[in-house]
Amino acid sequence: MESQVERWASERRAGVGPAEIARREGYCHQWISRQTKPYGPFPRSGTPSAATIEKWVAERKAGRSAERVARENGVTTKRVREATRHAGPFPARLHVDGFFTLSELADELGVPSPTICHWSDTGFLPAPERRGGRRLWPVEYFNEWLATAELETCPACGARTRDQSRHAGHAHR
Ligand SMILES: [Zn+2]
Repeated sequence: MESQVERWASERRAGVGPAEIARREGYCHQWISRQTKPYGPFPRSGTPSAATIEKWVAERKAGRSAERVARENGVTTKRVREATRHAGPFPARLHVDGFFTLSELADELGVPSPTICHWSDTGFLPAPERRGGRRLWPVEYFNEWLATAELETCPACGARTRDQSRHAGHAHR
């Protein structure tokens, strides 16, 4: 039969932090840490459980952006992107079939809309089609561009950046 400590250890392996177990069981977290230590190492606390990752993957497959899933779950976009990346790429639910709008593209790349405008104005990003004042980027062209754009992924927030140090200077001061 599984002992109480073994049960805690398997929770910790699934990403549940010692503080959470301690709260539920009425112990101090140091006690839980010490008791389960021989069964470790464990993922750092706050690491999403397999069930949580499965749920996030399902949401992203349903067309929700990483930003939205992150917002709704109170975690960083980076955490959602990293946890779900293995199951991607995910379909974007688009307002205009086959095209990204400016805000959808910004959401997709994890960068602010003005950055998209700048990239587009300077020719780094292909020019959009314009329909009724709206800028639209064909998804197909975007994916081709992304494959060759050599963007870095910010380790702090998951944004795709051209210049990580410049991005960090603006976004993570
Ligand atoms: Zn960042």
